[in-house]
Amino acid sequence: SLSDRLGGVFDRLRGRGALTEADVRTAMREVRVALLEADVALPVARDFVDKVTEQAIGQNVLRSITPGQQVVKIVHDALVAMLGADASELLLDVTPPAVVMMVGLQGSGKTTTTAKIAKRLSSGAMGRERKKVLMASLDVNRPAAQEQLATLGTQVEVSTLPIIAGQQPVEIARRALQAAKLQGYDVLMLDTAGRLHVDQALMDEMKAVAEIAQPQEILLVVDSLTGQDAVNVATSFSEQVPLTGVVLTRMDGDARGGAALSMRAVTGKPIKFAGVGEKMDALEAFHPERVAGRILGMGDVVSLVERAAETIQQEDAERMAMKMAKGQFDLNDLRGQLAQMRRMGGLGALAGMMPGMKKAQNALNDAGGDKILLRMDAIITSMTVKERAKPELVNAKRKIRIAKGSGTTVQDVNKLLKMHQEMSTAMKKIKKMGGIKGMMSMLG
Ligand code: GDP
Ligand code: MG
Repeated sequence: SLSDRLGGVFDRLRGRGALTEADVRTAMREVRVALLEADVALPVARDFVDKVTEQAIGQNVLRSITPGQQVVKIVHDALVAMLGADASELLLDVTPPAVVMMVGLQGSGKTTTTAKIAKRLSSGAMGRERKKVLMASLDVNRPAAQEQLATLGTQVEVSTLPIIAGQQPVEIARRALQAAKLQGYDVLMLDTAGRLHVDQALMDEMKAVAEIAQPQEILLVVDSLTGQDAVNVATSFSEQVPLTGVVLTRMDGDARGGAALSMRAVTGKPIKFAGVGEKMDALEAFHPERVAGRILGMGDVVSLVERAAETIQQEDAERMAMKMAKGQFDLNDLRGQLAQMRRMGGLGALAGMMPGMKKAQNALNDAGGDKILLRMDAIITSMTVKERAKPELVNAKRKIRIAKGSGTTVQDVNKLLKMHQEMSTAMKKIKKMGGIKGMMSMLG
């Protein structure tokens, strides 16, 4: 996967201030391979890499991640930005009927998607007003194609234009438009014919229909498994009719997401929906984040982020240990530590791994474990700045004041001070053992 590859290449470059041109170019060779493996069309992958290369050179490398990881992040963000640019729902705000025309190759999912969208519009999904929708099939090539739409119409309770045998697509479109006007439909959906390959007869027919129907939306329906061929399909269709958006179908399958980037790049139009199954409600708004994750390898991005976070924790702990060993670990530091424990989901990770920390952890457990973390924070908050920096100032009288202020007891305050003491002692021991890194390596 991409992040593994980059991890290997860049580990030794860690710690530099900014991404150099050489770093970025090496990383981008790997990015290019990953894009191609995800089925992004070759020219699209090339353009994308060129663009992101320019962006990445000179960017600062975050403290806790490698330049390779940083590049993955930049690529991920660029993918999301590109996939999500101009995202919009269907724009049907016109004098009715608004016409939506579906185009694409045979088998791409046009008829299915027509019915899915009709269902969505007519049911007032996502809090929208319900639309009165009419569907018409202009597919006179494929046997029973018009009946297929009629059947789906019954299923989703949306009207379909009555079938008249022998009519040609342009005639059907004219009739549908008239019916929609006369019968007060808000939306007319035109499901057009497709061929197995792009051919001119199909394109001419489609153009003629578009001229008559003047659609507000022309949606190109593409099978997300199309892969490298997606560019040819998108180019041909967008040259012939003014597309307004793309629908990617079969996103429920094992498509690696590359077609989405190709379609976006070639048509310049937003991806409006994703088909995620054969059922009539299997239509979703398009999620750029998810698809970017799929292109880069979803699991890897997640583990990448986790690894980066781990590194941050380790470095923070190291810095903390240094302060402690120098006798500088005060209650402000303890508060930071407590907040971090809460973020990590409670006690455990750090304290549990270190033998020297066992005592401090036990003290905390005795005091009530995780539930006590918030109370401890309250106690420290009730101390003065001087008390936090010099806990030995906290005498009996001050303890009473602090307990009152934090809604706790003197006993609680004592427990906190004891834990701070234990941690300081533990940290001094750790220092002698070669710091946290030395200890981690001893633990394997
Ligand atoms: P058309 O030739 O472009 O009209 O394609 P159809 O709408 O007839 O769809 C062809 C096949 O693909 C049918 O079996 C559909 O059920 C199936 N299909 C369409 N969209 C999806 C989808 O998003 N996911 C899955 N799994 N199947 C789909
Ligand atoms: Mg069809």
